[in-house]
Amino acid sequence: MKFDTKLLHSGFNPKEHNMSINVPIYPTTAFDFGSVQRGADLFDLKCEGDIYTRLSNPTNNILEKRIAELEGGVGALSFSSGQAATTAAILNITSCNQEIVASSTLYGGTCNLFSSTFKKLGINVRFSKTDEIEDFEKLINDKTRCIFIELLSNPALNIIDIEKLAQLAHNNNIPLIVDNTIPTPYLCNPIEWGADIVVHSTTKYLSGHGNAMGGIIVDSGKFDWEKAGKFPELTKPDESYHGIVYSETFKESAYIVKARAQLIRDLGSCPSPFNSYLTISGLETLSLRMQKHCESALKVAKYLNNNKYISWVNYPMLEDNKYYKLAKKYTPRGCSSIVGFGLVGGAKAGVKFIEALKIPIFTTNIGDTRSIITYPYITTHRQLNETQMKACGIGDDTMRFSVGLEDIDDIIEDLDNAIRESQK
Ligand SMILES: *Cc1c(COP(=O)(O)O)cnc(C)c1O
Repeated sequence: MKFDTKLLHSGFNPKEHNMSINVPIYPTTAFDFGSVQRGADLFDLKCEGDIYTRLSNPTNNILEKRIAELEGGVGALSFSSGQAATTAAILNITSCNQEIVASSTLYGGTCNLFSSTFKKLGINVRFSKTDEIEDFEKLINDKTRCIFIELLSNPALNIIDIEKLAQLAHNNNIPLIVDNTIPTPYLCNPIEWGADIVVHSTTKYLSGHGNAMGGIIVDSGKFDWEKAGKFPELTKPDESYHGIVYSETFKESAYIVKARAQLIRDLGSCPSPFNSYLTISGLETLSLRMQKHCESALKVAKYLNNNKYISWVNYPMLEDNKYYKLAKKYTPRGCSSIVGFGLVGGAKAGVKFIEALKIPIFTTNIGDTRSIITYPYITTHRQLNETQMKACGIGDDTMRFSVGLEDIDDIIEDLDNAIRESQK
C-alpha cells in the first residue's frame, strides 16, 4: 500500500472487529486469558495477545501498527505523551553511568528531561554546540549509548544531516534516535536515511486536532544489537522473564518488544485507548493537513519576508535560509507549519501584536488545525535571564507561528493588520 492508503487502512481489519468500519475503542483494563495454558504462555511472551491495558490494548495496537507502517519500521509502542515516549526510547538502552549525545536545539521539554531528570538518574547528556557532524563525533566515548536529535527542531527549525549522522552513529556501534514530530512521516521517513529509532509526540500533527496527548516509538528493526556488543540488556538473559534473550527470541523486533515487556510494564506510561482512537481518527487526514500546513506556512513566510516591520524570518523552504539545501534533501515537500520571525520594536511592539491578532490562538502548542501564535519571551522562556535566552535563540522580538488550516487570505490579512497595530 502507498502512504495515503496506509493512513486509512494499515493495521485494521473490520472482520476482526464485528465489521465496524471505525477502529473501536476498547475501554477495558484487563483481558480474559481463555485458558490456563494461554494465560501461562502470554506471561512467558510465547504467544501474542492482550493481558492488561498498561501493556497493550487492541485500540492502541492498531495505532502502533499504522504508525510503524507509515514510518517503515518493524514495530511501535504508544505512550501517554511524547515526553513518555522519549524517556522510554532512551531508558530502553541507557543506564546509570552511561551517556548520550544530543543536539542542543531540542524541544524545551526534552531539554529539561535531559538536563534535569536524566542527570538525577545518572545518565549524562552531552549536547553538541553546532549541527556539524564533527562536533557530534567529538562528544562520543565508550559510555555513549545513542545519538538523539530532532528533525526540523522545535522551535529553531534547523536540519541536521541525518544520513551523515547515522553513519557516524553506526561507525561507533550506537543507534541514532530521531524525534520526527514536526516533519511527520508525510514529510520525511528518518529510517530511510539511516535512523534506527523514531519517536513522535502524536499530540501535534499526527492527531492534528489539538484533542489528544500521545507519544510513540517506532523501531526500524535494522540496528544489530548483538554486533554492537554494547547492549547486554537486549542480548543477555532478562531475569524478569525467565532468562529470555530479546535479540535471540525476537530478532529484529528485540528493541521494541523489550520496551513493552520491561519499560511500559514498569513505568506505566500507557495511552488511554480513547486518545489512541482520536489519534487514529485524526491521522486519516495527515497528508491533506500537512500539504495545506506547508503551503500556507510558505505563503506566510514569503509575506513576512517582504514586510518592513519584520527583521528576520526563519522557514527552511525560503531560498535564503541556511537549511534550504538540507530541506530540499530531507523534506522536499515542505517544512511543516512553523514559521519563526522577529518583529521590529521589541517587547512593546510584541505585546501590541499579540493583542491585535484575531485568528491565531495565543498558546504554546503547535500542529493544531487552528493557527497558534507563541511569544516565548512572555511565556515559555520568561523564567530565563537575557543571557540564557540568547543561548536559546530567543529575543524580545521572537515570534513562533504555527500556521493552521484557515483560509490563507484571512491569516495574512490578520497578520498584516496586527503588524501595523504593533508599530503604532
Ligand atoms: C511537543 C513535543 C514533544 C513532547 O510531546 P508531548 O506530547 O507534549 O509530551 C517532543 N518533541 C517535540 C519536537 C515536540 O514538539
